[in-house]
Amino acid sequence: MAGSEIAFQLAKLGVEVTIHEMRPVKMTPVHKTGLLAELVCSNSLKSVDIHNASGLLKKEMELFDSLTLKAAYSSRVPAGKALAVDRERFSQFITRTIKEYGVEVVNEEITQIPEDTQDIWIIATGPATSDGLCDWLERIIGQHLYFFDAVAPIISADSIDYSIAFVADRYGVGTEDYLNCPMNSEQYEKFYEALIAADVIPVEDFDRNLLFERCKPIEEIARSGKMSLLFGPLRPVGLVDPRTGKQPYAVVQLRKDTMDGTLYNIVGFQTRLKWNEQRRIVRLIPGLQNAEIVRYGVMHRNIYINSRRVLDPYMRLKINNRLFFSGQITGVEGYLESAASGLYVSLNVHRILNNLCPVVLPKTTVMGALFDYISQGTGTNFQPMYANYGLLKNFKQPREEIAQRALEDLNHFLKQVGLNKGGS
Ligand SMILES: Cc1cc2nc3c(=O)[nH]c(=O)nc-3n(C[C@H](O)[C@H](O)[C@H](O)COP(=O)(O)OP(=O)(O)OC[C@H]3O[C@@H](n4cnc5c(N)ncnc54)[C@H](O)[C@@H]3O)c2cc1C
Repeated sequence: MAGSEIAFQLAKLGVEVTIHEMRPVKMTPVHKTGLLAELVCSNSLKSVDIHNASGLLKKEMELFDSLTLKAAYSSRVPAGKALAVDRERFSQFITRTIKEYGVEVVNEEITQIPEDTQDIWIIATGPATSDGLCDWLERIIGQHLYFFDAVAPIISADSIDYSIAFVADRYGVGTEDYLNCPMNSEQYEKFYEALIAADVIPVEDFDRNLLFERCKPIEEIARSGKMSLLFGPLRPVGLVDPRTGKQPYAVVQLRKDTMDGTLYNIVGFQTRLKWNEQRRIVRLIPGLQNAEIVRYGVMHRNIYINSRRVLDPYMRLKINNRLFFSGQITGVEGYLESAASGLYVSLNVHRILNNLCPVVLPKTTVMGALFDYISQGTGTNFQPMYANYGLLKNFKQPREEIAQRALEDLNHFLKQVGLNKGGS
């Protein structure tokens, strides 16, 4: 995500760029293709509503003429206020555009950066950075680099029982993009008991402590109490089954994963269950009794550095000013946040190549506040961070006002740095 955005932005400005992408020669545990900018889990890039920080982030990225957003809008699938995409079309759009802009793509693993390099290198190897590069990074940075994350399964649309699953949006607000599998209390009880007893892929005790709170596997949420799923991924509130006119006891939601609706992902179902157990448990959900899982949920290492300790405000390694970091490896979390960090880094790399001082973004913008938090924040327990209004100093003001100020300030900033040719 970050690497493709950087390559596009710099190539567009006439810089010679090479992407070293190890796939498909060497795959990560979570990617499935050799395409650039592959979405490894959900196909949603979150809300477009500016009342949500992710909506404002999109507006800011548009001002930068983001390739990621161009690709997203050209491969959009209906998902209410969320910007969800057909993942294959999305990645193809980016891969094709990068090549059209003359970026060289070399499919090889990089395991270290030459110390005496005269080039600028940007490490944007993401949450599944290869072991070889991780070893080198751990040596130069002097810290342990990972925690754990989990992915939800994807099922084929033709294996869903539509006499049970119903179409509805929560509180009736949206464009009817979700399928809902209703459960009564007995079905929920049976599902719950089976879920907490199912076999999971083991995690070392040490690694268990690194389980990432915000992407907890469904079985871990379930273990925290029988009602936990009813307030989490199986929350029924606002969903009425048109056949009964009632709100079910629990609901499992399915969201389209492809534009043509041939695949659905199970919302909030990140899991580390063994694959045979995933099949068994998913088939306990009414409407999914014959579900065919086309991509199983997985759990895997997720790598990031302690940016506050080792990077300067421009995401450059303090001990080597030819080496930048971008994307999730810096501790931003999420597809768009990673791409946005590519916009920031490419801006400064271009400036440095033109003998100009690097700059920071206005802290009244979501992007500016996020990158400031990542590289300059305080506190010892550094955890990955996604775009949110809480990062902005004026977060108690009405969101429309914050958003308007952010976009005005960013527009002004982009004019000052000569980059105001983006979208509106
Ligand atoms: C399991 C999982 C689930 C996730 N689910 C979501 C989600 O639902 N929504 C969301 O917004 N975000 C999600 N994320 C976060 C999201 O994946 C990342 O934020 C985003 O893809 C990171 O972008 P990036 O550019 O930093 O890295 P990536 O997009 O992963 O790109 C890094 C690239 O570097 C390559 N690479 C790695 N090591 C080397 C090497 N040594 N040499 C050469 N190439 C190398 C990889 O093959 C990869 O293509 C998830 C992450 C994980 C791990």
